[in-house]
Amino acid sequence: MAASLRPLAIDNPHARTARDVLAGLGAVVEHGLGEDEVTRRRAMAGANTIEATREASALLLLLHQFTSPVVYLLGGAALLAFWFQEIEEGLAIFAVLAVNALIGFVTELKAARSIEALRKLGSHAARVRRDGHVRTIAAEDLVPGDIVLIEAGDAVAADMRLVDTSSLAADESTVTGESVAVEKSIKAVAADARVPERHSMLFKGTAVTRGSGVAVVTATGLATELGRVSRLVEESEPGASPLERKLARLTLQLVWGTLALAAVLIGIGLWNGKEPFLIIEMSIALAVAAIPEGLPIIATLALARGMWRMAQHNALIERLAAVETLGATTVILTDKTGTLTENRMTVRRLWVPDGEIDLNEPKKELADDEEATLLLRLAVLCNDAVLEGENDKGSGDPMELALLRAGLRGGLSRERLTHRTPQLRKEAFDTATKKMATVHKSGDGYLFAIKGAPEAVLNSCDTAYDEGRIVPLTDAARRGWTEHIDHLGHHGLRVIACAMKMATGADEAPYQALTFAGLIALEDPARANVPDAIEDCRRAGIRVVMVTGDHAVTARSIGRAVGLGDAAQHVIEGRHVARLIESGDPALYEAGIFARVSPGEKLSLVRAFQKRGEVVAMTGDGVNDAPALRQADIGVAMGLRGTDVAREAAAMILLDDAFPSIVRAIREGRIIFGNIRRFVAYLMSCNLSEVLVVGLAVLFALPLPILPLQILYLNLITDVFPAFALALGEGDRDILKRPPRDPKQPLLSRAHWMALGLQSVGLAAATFAALATARFWLGLDNEAVVTVTFMTLAFAQLWHVFDMRHPSSRLLSNDILRNPWIWGALALCIGLLLVPVYTPVPAGILGLTPPTMAMWTVVMTCSLAPMGATQIVLMALGRRTRKPA
Ligand code: ADP
Ligand code: MG
Repeated sequence: MAASLRPLAIDNPHARTARDVLAGLGAVVEHGLGEDEVTRRRAMAGANTIEATREASALLLLLHQFTSPVVYLLGGAALLAFWFQEIEEGLAIFAVLAVNALIGFVTELKAARSIEALRKLGSHAARVRRDGHVRTIAAEDLVPGDIVLIEAGDAVAADMRLVDTSSLAADESTVTGESVAVEKSIKAVAADARVPERHSMLFKGTAVTRGSGVAVVTATGLATELGRVSRLVEESEPGASPLERKLARLTLQLVWGTLALAAVLIGIGLWNGKEPFLIIEMSIALAVAAIPEGLPIIATLALARGMWRMAQHNALIERLAAVETLGATTVILTDKTGTLTENRMTVRRLWVPDGEIDLNEPKKELADDEEATLLLRLAVLCNDAVLEGENDKGSGDPMELALLRAGLRGGLSRERLTHRTPQLRKEAFDTATKKMATVHKSGDGYLFAIKGAPEAVLNSCDTAYDEGRIVPLTDAARRGWTEHIDHLGHHGLRVIACAMKMATGADEAPYQALTFAGLIALEDPARANVPDAIEDCRRAGIRVVMVTGDHAVTARSIGRAVGLGDAAQHVIEGRHVARLIESGDPALYEAGIFARVSPGEKLSLVRAFQKRGEVVAMTGDGVNDAPALRQADIGVAMGLRGTDVAREAAAMILLDDAFPSIVRAIREGRIIFGNIRRFVAYLMSCNLSEVLVVGLAVLFALPLPILPLQILYLNLITDVFPAFALALGEGDRDILKRPPRDPKQPLLSRAHWMALGLQSVGLAAATFAALATARFWLGLDNEAVVTVTFMTLAFAQLWHVFDMRHPSSRLLSNDILRNPWIWGALALCIGLLLVPVYTPVPAGILGLTPPTMAMWTVVMTCSLAPMGATQIVLMALGRRTRKPA
């Protein structure tokens, strides 16, 4: 068939006319491609992506397991063992290494895969026309010839030739490196124009900063300009988070500290005349004891798992660092519309010069009312949304959809209206001016339809309708309208105004010399679960501040409805923000609501709060919100109504746009941080106890209470599982009842170091107590004594996991006891400790003998003692910190 031979690529689309390009690609603007054709083209052109090699290869991850200092050290030790003819020893070290690498590999692979899956969830969408209908598809599914509808804020998903534009401009720095926004038009340019000069094109990976347009896809995936350059520059991977860097630094410090310690111990050991190989092996085992080499892997696991849980609660993390910062959030600056409210809008009332019209009355006849019809006609004309069918379905801004629905009640359909008065151009809604305009051909002249925030529209009007005639808009009339606006706002209604003018030219300035047509009030119910979430924030020491573009009165009414409480009484309007910041007025930080705020003022607010040392989470959805989102510690973009530009600037995306999801994410962030802190403290105290046991024995020239291979076994195998389990904890129930953590505080504070130092002293003391009992009381031989000390330390470390509970939690009901992973890890580790003592070959290699009843008694008594002591201290601390209810 001839059609199947039609080329998907077209040469120099920028230099041809739009019509030419459309014809060449077999596309019709009004209809778009049919689904069959899309399937065929998709098969030919492939998916519209340029990330072919992003998946972390399993092989690389496996190799990565063998690139740590610990592996080099142990590898060296194993070779030494062979050199000294200790074949079994050498093999055993290799075995331990292999098992450890396997654990690391499985964990990292799982974490990497889940992070990749999360990335996919965050991919972009595109609005296309296919089979005559506008629909939203994944950007990946675009094919050459697709008709794409472009809006300010969109990330351009493929290379396209423009066929219609309205004040369209794009930021193309990602492709051309030039940061000034480029004006677009549909005029063809010279065939040899360089990429930055191809004004008739939009390029994949760039961002639309202003206006709107329609374009036909000319190239997808690797065939795009971006695809061409991205073979040179790999797409920037998110770097390591501050947390990961902190952990890496900690590890490095410990490596050096240990090497120094090992050198000292070697010296002392040789001085005491110990066997050289045993000493070298001991030092290496000690080094391994002190290097928390499981840390990075477990941290990755904790982060990845936390990100998954956040995603399940509709918060998608875009930057790994956000996970950590989230838990430290002290203030949330949140949008109103769609975040605190449902964004399910219904037009409730109209206010025209004649008076008020209540649309709640179901039988209300609108068609006969001239003023109401004019008002609705403007609202329907000045509108970007598309209703599909008669019922609720549609695409676009919920408020505009509500206006279209109200229009239908008055017998006005946008399709029919634009047929009679075709739309020529549009000024897209701008959150800074808070207005939008469309221009239509109407008879010999041009009709300008305007809608926007009421004061903003009133300010652009100098006339109004009165009984069908156009009369000057008097100050008294303005005051009258302002009262109506306040009155509607008191009921929590979102109010917009419409205005119009007839002009002789389509290029006239849209927001001047307008005639006021009336007010439309919409209801947007508060989200049901927001008050609980705000209450959670209050208890968690997090301030919630509403920052909205809406009217102060409406904002206050919604603020009360969602439970902002007294704070809702302090409303500051955006235009006062600069002055208050400058004078350092504390009122700024007491306000619960900022109303009529422009994007620029949002940015100033974020900075002002940050200057006071607050950790700021801020929501945003528009193109203009991007700077504020980037500036905030946690920029939160809206997944449903947010623009691509906002999403790219944000650290986190809310899939459901809802405020409670932010609070959930903060809770999750706190849990993750707490988990990481816990397993770091756990691993540190275990390792420190081993260093103490061996170090003291060497220092006082005692026989070694625990052998090198045994230390490896503890560190690389049995310590790892409880630490994993701690990393997977669900957090304690009080986690949102404590104030936020100080972000400047290190991972482990001085108090944490003190605690873990004391705990490791406890573990070491128990080990020496077991040693003394076994030797002097039970009078055991050397191998049996070592068995007792090894088992004591091993079990004491296992029980030590229960010491990781928060002091304010309860002894018998806390998140460690509730964590099933902990019990699984304990069962597994007990098994892993019983196997080597009761099976001959491993027992031989590790130097253990099967314990007798008496030995078990000593092991259990001594290993439980440190935990008992710690629990008593924790209870005492808990009684002090827990406030009486
Ligand atoms: P919010 O904080 O409620 O999201 P916005 O900045 O989106 O506030 O909107 C501010 C005001 O601009 C609204 O109160 C409304 O009056 C007006 N407005 C919002 N969207 C549109 C639109 N699409 N067209 C015209 N006016 C709008
Ligand atoms: Mg909005």
